[in-house]
Amino acid sequence: MTFKTLDDADLAGKRALVRVDFNVPMADGRVTDDTRLRAALPTIEKLRKGGAKVILLAHFDRPKGKRVPEMSLKPVVEPLAKLLGAPVAFADDSVGPTAKAAVDALQPGDVLLLENVRFEAGEEKNDPALAQALAANGDLYVNDAFSAAHRAHASTEGLARVLPAYAGEQMRRELQALDAALGAPKRPVLGIVGGSKVSTKLDLLNNLVGKLDRLAIGGGMANTFLAAQGVDVGASLCEHDLADTARQIMATAKAKGCELLLPVDVVVAEKVEPGAASTVRDLDAIGAADRILDAGPKTLARLIAAMDASATLVWNGPLGVFEVPPFDKATVDAANHAAQLAKAGKLVAVAGGGDTVAALNVAGVTEDFTFVSTAGGAFLEWMEGKTLPGVAALNEQVG
Ligand code: ADP
Ligand code: MG
Repeated sequence: MTFKTLDDADLAGKRALVRVDFNVPMADGRVTDDTRLRAALPTIEKLRKGGAKVILLAHFDRPKGKRVPEMSLKPVVEPLAKLLGAPVAFADDSVGPTAKAAVDALQPGDVLLLENVRFEAGEEKNDPALAQALAANGDLYVNDAFSAAHRAHASTEGLARVLPAYAGEQMRRELQALDAALGAPKRPVLGIVGGSKVSTKLDLLNNLVGKLDRLAIGGGMANTFLAAQGVDVGASLCEHDLADTARQIMATAKAKGCELLLPVDVVVAEKVEPGAASTVRDLDAIGAADRILDAGPKTLARLIAAMDASATLVWNGPLGVFEVPPFDKATVDAANHAAQLAKAGKLVAVAGGGDTVAALNVAGVTEDFTFVSTAGGAFLEWMEGKTLPGVAALNEQVG
């Protein structure tokens, strides 16, 4: 990784155009969860302290290149100002005379939020003309939106090509954590991939088997692997049409020296209901009406032993139907064990994915993991080994 950070930048008096992720949950024009606003604070505060003029650039929702009043970023101003303890100015446009006038009025340390950049048709097209128009209001570009880095848009990629570009604090933290998990990790590296379906995680599985020392497959997708090996999975969720694909992934893992850990026992029930009567079954004892909803105790013990034997863990996807207790047990127990190892400095534990983050929150261990990514699509594309255009543009700056 060769990107520049704010420590490398000369900030005093400079106009810093900062791409943030303010795509926050809103209801009736009010921000209902300010997690993403808080995530941007370290970068904003560092820039203010350095004497920069802070110009925030973000998208909200999908206005598709047109001005949609309900998709204005204006409702972000007040909660952000409160969090910062400083005024936040707002410009009704992200480019043009309105934006320029607002930028020209800034003093060092001031903060300005520009209107939803996706109101501009050139944003999602990564139109160089829009990148130039945005760049006219900045001396340097700071990208702090890892979650948007899998898109090559004018504000996430194009700008890094026309202004000196730096990774913001949140971006830097995320890239360093991801590099510690898959880029240049301490070995042995263990992966856990769970979730419902193999079909949604093919690229991810194929990339991981080439990089990991061990890969534990759990959740509904493990059923497809078990069935491909001749196990009768009863009434469980299973993509029988992907049996060949599953066998191919198993063969690749073997060829690349990645040990696959598939379930050796399972928790089954006939219904997915809270508190449903559940039974532990060995793989040869699954009944026709049984639905596999969680990993069994032997499987969990083996996974925990694998964690103990690893230096790094990278995790995407729950091991069971964690939304419906008691089928959250394997996920919660595994998460607790990983968190304890991470806290004790024995394991670098990195996790991400929408439902994975929710599951770790259920377990109450998010804070104890080394890093939990809330980036969604960008995190998954990174786990799939894909180049993220927004990150590539930061790296190429340095050459
Ligand atoms: P993420 O959002 O973290 O990438 P996924 O969307 O791939 O994760 O998977 C999460 C979903 O997988 C959850 O809704 C969970 O209920 C489901 N799941 C896990 N195990 C099973 C199972 N054995 N059968 C059916 N669904 C499962
Ligand atoms: Mg999901």
